[in-house]
Amino acid sequence: MSDVPKTHPRYLSLTLRDKIVAGVEQGITSTHGLIAHGRGEAFDYLIGETTQPFAIEAIYAAAVMLLSAEHPVISVNGNVAALVPEGLIELAQVLNAPLEVNIFHTETGREQKIREHLLKHGASDVLMPTTEVQLSYIDSNRKFVHPDGIFKADVVFVPLEDGDRCEALRKMGKEVVTVDLNPMSRTAKQASITIVDNVVRALPLLCEEIQKLSAHHTEEATLKDYSNEAVLQKALQHISRSGNGNQRKRETQQG
Ligand code: ATP
Ligand code: MG
Repeated sequence: MSDVPKTHPRYLSLTLRDKIVAGVEQGITSTHGLIAHGRGEAFDYLIGETTQPFAIEAIYAAAVMLLSAEHPVISVNGNVAALVPEGLIELAQVLNAPLEVNIFHTETGREQKIREHLLKHGASDVLMPTTEVQLSYIDSNRKFVHPDGIFKADVVFVPLEDGDRCEALRKMGKEVVTVDLNPMSRTAKQASITIVDNVVRALPLLCEEIQKLSAHHTEEATLKDYSNEAVLQKALQHISRSGNGNQRKRETQQG
């Protein structure tokens, strides 16, 4: 890890970069994951690097959807494994749902390294892709799934998802809950519920919400008025407002 002083104004952001770089060094995260992280950072900057009300709204809906699922599954890629292994494990515990490794770039042994990384952090079990069953509508390596995991899931939690697979999962009739800082990505638009927030902030809040709801009879909570599109619109409006705000600030400073 680099030696970032805690007083550095971008301390948190730099700490996350360190985690992603460490993930690459450990063979967990793909080098392509670094680029995806950079895209996420840019959007995080635009939303203010805090959890906004549109994310809180989505987190509540996601908790309801995941709790009412018959067979929820948590899909894990190299970025989330490096950034939030404890959060993923806690989510699996509160939902009593399996974790399943599913990645796009399968450099040597990376799937196995992600599995071992999660086990080392305390996961009780981690499902792996198999050639026994495949997802339809997708040609990449991500079609290989586990028969007791993503294949039979009714709701899949897939943070930092790729648009192609999100579309395939939806076409197969599965609900998809994602976390994606870019409200314009194909994933954000196609998912059933998109939490526009950094996964490192959203995951602990999601676990907390699930615990709160499960203590208070979930059957009362419903999703009938939830619109992913409307929530994404709020995120976009927030981004454009913050853009105008920054512009005004610059003009005031210049003037
Ligand atoms: P899509 O395939 O859905 O159109 P994309 O091709 O732009 O998206 P991918 O590389 O497939 O992007 O997926 C990575 C997504 O994850 C990006 O939208 C990026 O903004 C987002 N992202 C990266 N890091 C984080 C993070 N820490 N928390 C939440 N989202 C993140
Ligand atoms: Mg993509």
